[in-house]
Amino acid sequence: MLFLDLDRFKLVNDSLGHEAGDALLRAVAERLGATLQPDDTLARIGGDEFVLLWNGLKSSQDAATLAQRVLGILARPFTVEGRTLSVTASVGISVYPGDGRDFSELLQNAGTAANHAKETGRDRFLFFSPELNARAVARLGMENDLRHALSRGELLLQWQPVVTTRHPRSGSRLVGAEILVRWQHPQEGLLMPDRFISVAEDSGLIRPLGQWTLERALSQIGAWLRRYPRDGSHGLWFALNVSAHELDQGDAYVAMVAQALKANQVPGSCIELEITERVLVSQLAGNAETLRKLGDLGVRIAIDDFGTGYSSLAYLRQLPIDKLKIDRSFLRELDAHPADATIVQTIAAMAKALGLRVAAEGVESEAQVARLRALGCDEWQGHHFSASLDAADFERLIAERGTQRAAG
Ligand code: C2E
Ligand code: CA
Ligand code: CA
Repeated sequence: MLFLDLDRFKLVNDSLGHEAGDALLRAVAERLGATLQPDDTLARIGGDEFVLLWNGLKSSQDAATLAQRVLGILARPFTVEGRTLSVTASVGISVYPGDGRDFSELLQNAGTAANHAKETGRDRFLFFSPELNARAVARLGMENDLRHALSRGELLLQWQPVVTTRHPRSGSRLVGAEILVRWQHPQEGLLMPDRFISVAEDSGLIRPLGQWTLERALSQIGAWLRRYPRDGSHGLWFALNVSAHELDQGDAYVAMVAQALKANQVPGSCIELEITERVLVSQLAGNAETLRKLGDLGVRIAIDDFGTGYSSLAYLRQLPIDKLKIDRSFLRELDAHPADATIVQTIAAMAKALGLRVAAEGVESEAQVARLRALGCDEWQGHHFSASLDAADFERLIAERGTQRAAG
């Protein structure tokens, strides 16, 4: 439950009159109403006090994200009787069931939190529970830092080599790389994506982040293809991770990819996009259309973390997919648990039958490589061959690849 109390509303009433005050309240209510989902409730419960009831939030973080959005929506200026007014609010949040088991308890605690927000500076939100406050503050701080990270150039790319199992005698042969983003945080050091991708997704920053990653990666790839022209034509490829919110942009995303390919003279066939199963299935029809258009650019599509998402496999036939990446969890105990070998083998057999490639990630031992080869898995990546590398180190591998080919 979100309790919202407008800041300094009395001033509007006193200086512009009650009619202007009423008009402002109606305008505020309209903007708040526009944020509602079908199951939500909005009420005006007092002079300048509103309550929003949100159903089905998955975490308190979702409430913080929504509260932040509400404050942002109010921050846009209002026009009332020809005047431009700016409005802020003090917001309190209580979360069922921890902060109250019924309506009146939740209302009372959300109101207390809103008062607290008002006393401690206005134009902000606070949770009733101190622990949730601490978490929300840390998360917002991270979001703020991330916004600056893009403009300050704190993000960087690493390249994890992918090798093929198809050449048993010549050992592991480099066929491509997965591109992984990192964040050199000024205080916290090098952060892994697990720390910030979900923050980026919740805040909408994933789109600029994804665009940066795409453009940065393609400019590097373009430079390599010009420096090692034969490797481009010998099938070296690069895989980018793509989030749901990026794919949701539909044609705009396709246009962005097309533009980045063109600007860097990179053929689409050198690029793979990795999308998790969960994402693809949530919007099957819309995504299928977008993926087909990406396919028209020559770009290939891989399903990431395959096996962790949906039990219905019908979508595999409906989507234009080239490759399945078996989730790391199945690899980890390939030898300890024969059942996992059965799963990997089944995925590989199914993929073959559908004409798809199969890849494994998180490979850490020679024993796993041998099993994968026996199970018919085409490609793998993992610490057993190499962790992710910076561009200079990865370039050394490309150069070696050329030398090997010249020799053999
Ligand atoms: P993912 O796509 O499943 O990436 C594979 C992860 O496994 C990477 O973690 C990689 O460093 C790690 N890994 C590879 N080989 C091994 C191994 O042998 N052992 C172990 N223990 N780990 C291995 P990382 O780099 O921390 O990335 C985590 C996740 O963050 C990725 O999972 C991906 O979902 C996401 N991500 C990374 N970069 C991007 C990006 O540019 N955009 C988006 N949207 N997501 C990204
Ligand atoms: Ca991936
Ligand atoms: Ca994965």
